Amino acid sequence: MAETTGISWCDSTWNPWIGCTKVSPGCDHCYAAVSTPARTMNIVWGPNQPRKRTGADNWQFPHRWNAQHDEFFAEHGRRRRVFCASLGDVFDNEVDPAWRKALWTVVKNTPNLDWLILTKRIGNVAAMLPDDWGDYANGYPNVWLGISVVNQTEADRGIQKLLRVPAAVRWLSMEPLLEEVSFEGLFAEHPDPRVHLNVLELLDWVVVGGESGHHARPMQASWVESLRAQCEVCETPFFFKQWGGSSKDKGGCLLNDIEVKAWPVAA
Ligand code: SF4
Repeated sequence: MAETTGISWCDSTWNPWIGCTKVSPGCDHCYAAVSTPARTMNIVWGPNQPRKRTGADNWQFPHRWNAQHDEFFAEHGRRRRVFCASLGDVFDNEVDPAWRKALWTVVKNTPNLDWLILTKRIGNVAAMLPDDWGDYANGYPNVWLGISVVNQTEADRGIQKLLRVPAAVRWLSMEPLLEEVSFEGLFAEHPDPRVHLNVLELLDWVVVGGESGHHARPMQASWVESLRAQCEVCETPFFFKQWGGSSKDKGGCLLNDIEVKAWPVAA
């Protein structure tokens, strides 16, 4: 699929299948639905529309990248980060379970890659993980499991669910950020009722960005500053991706004139 990508928080994107249904305000201007692969393959977005599995050649890419690890590491000093399913959702319940099973086999057999899996369907995740996920203390060690959070409702509803899933890295993609989001009062579940841990303290990474494209909904600087400050207090790595808008450079990616791109501590 894409050996290189314009998405600044990963090195490559790879799609095991294409197609999806809009499930969140963050999906309103879904770029995947109008992307070149979706158009050329005549893929229609929505419920009861067939998803299309990508070809056998495409499924070889991760194995190739995995084999190129030494070279990649020598150049970058770290493992390759692969964003899985930019044109769909790994946890879409309309995807053939056999395809997802095949995907997990690829993930397991490419231990030199870090797999960045981002979903808008965190409620489906527990039932769709591979059978041996629990054999590891935190699931497959090469999976960064993230959810999209574009507004306060999604933060309130989704983060607790994410924290219930064991994962090596748990993260939020707050793009397109559509309103101010506060983590105040969002405490993680804990067996001891006297312990109040803000959910941010248990998250490994927060990525924030504005919407891009002709119909981009504006993101206010104060929302970004607020999230950055909340992450700072909880020592959660904060990555600012872009301001968004319709300009070619997606509004730029500087926050107060500097790039703010922190990564999960273990990465
Ligand atoms: S989940 Fe992602 S791919 Fe699916 S409709 Fe929403 S934005 Fe598009």
